[in-house]
Amino acid sequence: MDLDKLVGQKSLIHRIKRIINNDSPGHAYAFSGPERIGKRTFAFAFAKKLLCCGNKTELCDCKSCRTFLEGTNPDFYEIITDKGSVGVDLIRDMQSDVANRPVYGKYKVYFIDNAEKMTIQAQNCLLKTLEEPPEYTIILISVTSFEALLPTIRSRTVNLRMSTYTDDEMREIICPVYDIPENELDFILKFSRGIPGNAFHMIEEGMVRELREHIFRLLERPDDLNAVEKVKNMLTDNKTEITTVLDILISVFRDCLMQKHTMENRLINSDKKDIIKCIAKSNSSRKLMDKIKEVERLRYGFKSNINYQLGIDLLLLEIQEV
Ligand SMILES: [Zn+2]
Repeated sequence: MDLDKLVGQKSLIHRIKRIINNDSPGHAYAFSGPERIGKRTFAFAFAKKLLCCGNKTELCDCKSCRTFLEGTNPDFYEIITDKGSVGVDLIRDMQSDVANRPVYGKYKVYFIDNAEKMTIQAQNCLLKTLEEPPEYTIILISVTSFEALLPTIRSRTVNLRMSTYTDDEMREIICPVYDIPENELDFILKFSRGIPGNAFHMIEEGMVRELREHIFRLLERPDDLNAVEKVKNMLTDNKTEITTVLDILISVFRDCLMQKHTMENRLINSDKKDIIKCIAKSNSSRKLMDKIKEVERLRYGFKSNINYQLGIDLLLLEIQEV
């Protein structure tokens, strides 16, 4: 994706453009921000512009831009690992490439994705390059938290922090790619927390939609053992979806409170208005607030060391008792 086509992150893009137009950019930049926010996309857009030896526009057809899009630019080097960590061997391989001058333009760009996976030895090894980088070397890093890097690396790296997107920006990102009904999009926006990758994950996996249907089914018919089993199995196989279920429940109780205060037009689950009305009718505001607290307590439990299966059972009881 070209830098000019990227949505949102306006001040960051402005900063990147200033760096690109600078005759002597720094040697290390870290894109930091939540998982799936788009750090790799930004790093690639930045790298493409840094390496361009043409007019730096989206349609530039210089050798560097052309090969970059093909994934064969010799001046771009990405550290990829399928293991749980980035070991010192990968950084050493990169360093032996740093010794070779760029083929096309002024710079060579190295990209380390998920830099929090670098071992301490790998970070110390990288430090050697950061201490005395050849003038043409630029290292880009993506990292969830800048603080996860060693202080010695941080002091030599410019932190380019990415922020979450507004709902309007999220729409601008999602709508050209997927055709989604408006009420479902509202729900996706709410649950993706301003992180495009979360929204894409929700849309592509389809699991969130399925989980949500089962949960509403259970809220309506607590004795539906088939739905209980389905939620249980889905959560046993996909531990990362537990947050989604907690979020869905919070949204239901929040909607019930809204319903009680006649703010129907602000429901997140507007397509499930009838069920929300029904739950709101049979629960006091106090009870609904307690339920929200209970779900948050469970969230904390899952983050700490609660037995996972036990946690799921407690969660299901919470749903069935509404
Ligand atoms: Zn170019």
